[in-house]
Amino acid sequence: MTVPVAPAIAAPAVSPYLHIDARFRRLVIGTARLDCLHTGSRWTEGPVWLPATQELVWSDIPNNRLLRWSEGAGAGVFRQPSDFNNGNTLDREGRIVGCLHGARAVVRTEHDGSITTLASHWQGKRLNSPNDVVVKSDGSIWFTDPDYGINSDYEGYRADTEIGACNVYRIDGASGELALVVGDMERPNGLAFSPDESKLYIADTGQTHREDGPHHIREFDVTDGQRLTGGRVFATIDPGLADGFRLDERGNIWTSAGDGVHCYAPDGALLGKILMPEVVSNVTFGGPRGNRLFITATTSLYAVYLAVNGARRPASPG
Ligand code: MG
Repeated sequence: MTVPVAPAIAAPAVSPYLHIDARFRRLVIGTARLDCLHTGSRWTEGPVWLPATQELVWSDIPNNRLLRWSEGAGAGVFRQPSDFNNGNTLDREGRIVGCLHGARAVVRTEHDGSITTLASHWQGKRLNSPNDVVVKSDGSIWFTDPDYGINSDYEGYRADTEIGACNVYRIDGASGELALVVGDMERPNGLAFSPDESKLYIADTGQTHREDGPHHIREFDVTDGQRLTGGRVFATIDPGLADGFRLDERGNIWTSAGDGVHCYAPDGALLGKILMPEVVSNVTFGGPRGNRLFITATTSLYAVYLAVNGARRPASPG
């Protein structure tokens, strides 16, 4: 049963689109407007669409809760307390894989509602505070581990880092073994695969702690399905940060930024923006056709229909 938690507010009726490259006109629907589906949170992140129940689940981290929204029932509480859950994704079986700041772990919610810990330590030391997570078609789970969830008591429990670095890790889908895949970032944050999984894009949001720190997305080549090479800067986000992003079926990246959602072509060109009334954290594609972009932005959840659908994970290799 859903419990109403706050009414939706009216979103601006003006066009939210800023066209920079002619290609952007084929990706957005000129008459489509932003819908504000829910407001009243403190800091929203981690949107994930659940096809089985046709609902959107997202995090309100400082309020220590997961929320849910569906077309028929509106908004309600999905889980509270959430152990300061941040990023979410679905695995191949439709189970939610989430990042907990509280437990400093990556966990999976089973179909019976029980929670399985997938990763909590690296070489005997506690993870910092897993932030964002994606699942590859081979079942492996890739996540970032910055320290935002242990910097204060606002989005978790204040603590010192044990590892002393903010890394990116891979959990093997078969053995469950943890491997370090990127160790040269300041604060790795959002991440997502290209539609064919040949590339993994990872944001570095180090500028939150250092004025001239990184505020960009890097592009890595996926080698042997499990290692990363390369890592050139794909796009520098300005204003703001690439806290989270997702790709459409054509490989364009839709990312958070300081003034809205920025859309980048696979060649790195900034195609256009969806200007937003609040600072955006994450996005995800959802809806029955996968053509609705759900946007978590500070206190609210927004959505907008696009002319392009979200990328689908390739079929499982075996
Ligand atoms: Mg994040």
